[in-house]
Amino acid sequence: MKESHQALSETVIANGYCVGCGVCAVPENSPFRMVMDEYGQYQSQLSESGVFAKTDSNYEKLCPFGSAAPNEDEIAEQHFAEACEHNPQVGYYNGVYAGHVSEGEFRKQGSSGGMGTWVLNELLAKGLVDYVVHVKSETAEEDLHNIPFKYQISESLEETQQGGKSRYFPIELSEVLRVIRDQPGRYAVVGLPCFIKSIRLLQAQDSILAERIHYCVGLVCGHLKSAHYAESLAWQMGIPPRELRGIDFRIKDPSQPANRYSIYARGLSGEAVVPTRQLFGADWGAGAFKYKACDFCDDVFAETADVVLGDAWLPEYVDDSDGTNVVVTRNANIQQIIVDAMSDGRLDFKELGVEKAIQSQDAGLRHRKVAIGYRLHREKIAHSWVPNKRTSPTNTLKPRYEMKRQRLRSELRDLSHQSFLAAKSANDLSVYLKAMSPVYLRYSRQGKSLFRRLVSFAKRKLKALIKV
Ligand SMILES: Cc1cc2nc3c(=O)[nH]c(=O)nc-3n(C[C@H](O)[C@H](O)[C@H](O)COP(=O)(O)OP(=O)(O)OC[C@H]3O[C@@H](n4cnc5c(N)ncnc54)[C@H](O)[C@@H]3O)c2cc1C
Repeated sequence: MKESHQALSETVIANGYCVGCGVCAVPENSPFRMVMDEYGQYQSQLSESGVFAKTDSNYEKLCPFGSAAPNEDEIAEQHFAEACEHNPQVGYYNGVYAGHVSEGEFRKQGSSGGMGTWVLNELLAKGLVDYVVHVKSETAEEDLHNIPFKYQISESLEETQQGGKSRYFPIELSEVLRVIRDQPGRYAVVGLPCFIKSIRLLQAQDSILAERIHYCVGLVCGHLKSAHYAESLAWQMGIPPRELRGIDFRIKDPSQPANRYSIYARGLSGEAVVPTRQLFGADWGAGAFKYKACDFCDDVFAETADVVLGDAWLPEYVDDSDGTNVVVTRNANIQQIIVDAMSDGRLDFKELGVEKAIQSQDAGLRHRKVAIGYRLHREKIAHSWVPNKRTSPTNTLKPRYEMKRQRLRSELRDLSHQSFLAAKSANDLSVYLKAMSPVYLRYSRQGKSLFRRLVSFAKRKLKALIKV
């Protein structure tokens, strides 16, 4: 029988399903190490020597895409089933809210309503943890937006606030989890759904981390981007990849709805702020620079986390450019903290109800939880290895154009990685733009009838005329 590290390497890693979380590199004597690949993605790699000290870890049980790992429902059931209700889209919940932080600078300094940083800070302030583990610039004291972004440990409000904002950038956990194993204390960790699942799987095999990590704070997730996403946007703003020094993916624009935010980029010789929608490749639905693994993950609401925070993409909130959170709680302490702060006026939140939370992530849930069946089917008919998922493969989707849309999304995903690498080698952004544009055009026409296409064409023409 194959050893678990070999099996993981030949299945998940060899077939492109590594999300780069880094958890397989954490066990003592692990044969894995994390590397940044040529596409700007963290990937796990077997050490070259091929000779490894004996390790007790079962790597196929550690990896969120590993064949022997329990799924999100099975993990979450152990933690939350007793005190929570369950919904197949959202997972377990004991509270569902929408709103924003009304005290301090949290909302101003956050991507959305500021709850991400507020929850971490509250856990610290209430003495429930000694440290929070979050993602911030490696040189945050110089400039919050300096790249690279990394998982780091904070222990004060000031340090925690340096980690506000969404970093659509590759990150990995192995380095920081090794520090936690060496440094006693109680920790809260923030992460994307698959990263939180990885932490839960590691805790099942590592008693020290099981004892030290007290809270997992999840982020609602569409998908993770490679470092080339940041580079591609900045390059369109006049900053070539080798000159890019800092980036803020979520600048709130007071004249626009919350989902029309801008991007800030700083290079060696200047900086710029541009509305994100003016830049090619920033349409999240199209999924440029997405890790392949993300197309085979069916967890949007970080179902194994104690609390999860996202954007309330709902018509009643989206017009408020300052940002509004959707929050799902699963842990009794965190729910109580939120309820108390609501009654003290420190949080401006309302009960939302689970159906509205689902509506707030409608597109993400359809892509992740429904269309995944079709993507699995396509891999299977190509005789490729696929990870075990909660959804079964299906050869059909409704409406019918959704199947073509899925095929084009996969094509855009792969093409973005390849063509941007080629553009960097040629030192010519147009290599990427020329390769992607025709496929993106076909993608954006999907599902639009001739009538709707004519209407949007007429609208564009009319707008251009008005501008003149
Ligand atoms: C890759 C990615 C994809 C996302 N997709 C969606 C989506 O589809 N729908 C949706 O509603 N919301 C999504 N979010 C979450 C959203 O962007 C906001 O992060 C969330 O609404 C919290 O905003 P806030 O103002 O409450 O938090 P803030 O106060 O801004 O705090 C954010 C916290 O998240 C941490 N963080 C930032 N980037 C990362 C990262 N890459 N990995 C782990 N922790 C990080 C920060 O360190 C900070 O602690 C995504 C976030 C990321 C990073």
